[in-house]
Amino acid sequence: MEHYDIVIVGTGAAGLFCALSLPQDKKILCISKDALDGSDSFLAQGGICMLRDDNDYESYFEDTMRAGHYENRKESVEIMIRSSQDIIKDLEGYGVEFEKKDGQFVFTKEGAHSNNRILFHADVTGREITSKLLARAMERENITLKAHTTMVDWVCQDNVCYGIVVADMDGKTSTIEADVTVLACGGLGGVYPHSTNYRHISGDALALAMYHNVRLENCDYVQIHPTTLFTRQNGRSFLISESVRGEGAVLRDKNGERFTDELQPRDVVSNAILAKMKEQKTEHVWLDFSPIPEEEILNHFPNIYKHCVEAGFDPLKTWVPVVPAQHYFMGGIYVDKDSKTTMEQLYAVGETSCNGVHGRNRLASNSLLESLVFAKRAAADIAAKESFKKAADFDNLVNMDGYEDLPSIMEYYHAMVVGEIKKEANLRAEKEAI
Ligand SMILES: Cc1cc2nc3c(=O)[nH]c(=O)nc-3n(C[C@H](O)[C@H](O)[C@H](O)COP(=O)(O)OP(=O)(O)OC[C@H]3O[C@@H](n4cnc5c(N)ncnc54)[C@H](O)[C@@H]3O)c2cc1C
Repeated sequence: MEHYDIVIVGTGAAGLFCALSLPQDKKILCISKDALDGSDSFLAQGGICMLRDDNDYESYFEDTMRAGHYENRKESVEIMIRSSQDIIKDLEGYGVEFEKKDGQFVFTKEGAHSNNRILFHADVTGREITSKLLARAMERENITLKAHTTMVDWVCQDNVCYGIVVADMDGKTSTIEADVTVLACGGLGGVYPHSTNYRHISGDALALAMYHNVRLENCDYVQIHPTTLFTRQNGRSFLISESVRGEGAVLRDKNGERFTDELQPRDVVSNAILAKMKEQKTEHVWLDFSPIPEEEILNHFPNIYKHCVEAGFDPLKTWVPVVPAQHYFMGGIYVDKDSKTTMEQLYAVGETSCNGVHGRNRLASNSLLESLVFAKRAAADIAAKESFKKAADFDNLVNMDGYEDLPSIMEYYHAMVVGEIKKEANLRAEKEAI
């Protein structure tokens, strides 16, 4: 058994930012099921929102609420928007660079935003942010990072969390005792056949929450992104960022006709595409980049451009086939405004958690910001605590013989997650039909 003050499960933006925001006299362990850079945070393309000035507050708040069908927790939205400038300052302090002109930020726009308020780093904003956070975390003496280490259970009793059970690459299991456990395990795309997420990010923490009776919220609120590159190959779907449409690209059906306003909220655009595909019996629709100046395509979207060309579709010359795919999880483990779950000494941050910011549907480029804001709040809450409960007999709280067959455990967790999404969706449909 190892002991840490805090164990953080996940090395995406949320987990790393939480670790960096904790006091440096805390002994912290961050684990990742995959490589340390195998997180969806590295994949984020479009950017991260920031409140430009007070004049934009009402509009930013309204855009977030409208995209979320007004089911968002207003307090969380307010906290996120009001914290955004400080978060960007923190990121710059960690060495993150955003696009600037004459020393001033350049802002772009995505669907359902009334104003340009998104900071970006070409079309690899997530990689820029998360690689810098990872580099800073590696420099900190109080932070230990372990790759290919999978959380398989929590060590808990009477609704208090005392740590986790982990399995290494060879399936060897051990326990980690910690005063505080922070879940930063990302979303659940791995349980869907077509998703923009990494396959290993599959809602493990949600299954454990179900198993240990920790409250979940809105598990059926799963976002389908309108535009991923159409392919018949298996594996992760390649995203074509909404900022491409924000900069002018348009959708066309099989006859070359436009059929929807491309800058509506994601759920609306996805539904319009799926309806058109059904009507015309097609496997995809087309994304036409031609309204965007060539220089803008090459400079703002170099990664997307390269990927499309490699797939045989040069956006400078031809339309690109696109299809909706699972992308983001608005629901999750219920947390309060300080990212506390309903179990003592257990926090959840980032896409695993549901703090209510996104309501029923996430506004583009709000998720990196939300992850960072509430990861920092978790760190502040943990730092302010003077004492923690200790397990009287930690070693005997779990039976380690129960974790021998790791693949079966993971399969079981996936089935639990899929079952919960379906159950919630059915319940909601019944409720809404009344
Ligand atoms: C293609 C793509 C593009 C996106 N573009 C944008 C964008 O432009 N702007 C924006 O705001 N958002 C964007 N998003 C969403 C955003 O990237 C994510 O919501 C956010 O990065 C989630 O961060 P996270 O730290 O919560 O989780 P992640 O970054 O997904 O990290 C999850 C971590 O948990 C670990 N993990 C999972 N399960 C276990 C386990 N059982 N044991 C141990 N470790 C585990 C993983 O290995 C990983 O380290 C995009 C997402 C994708 C997929």
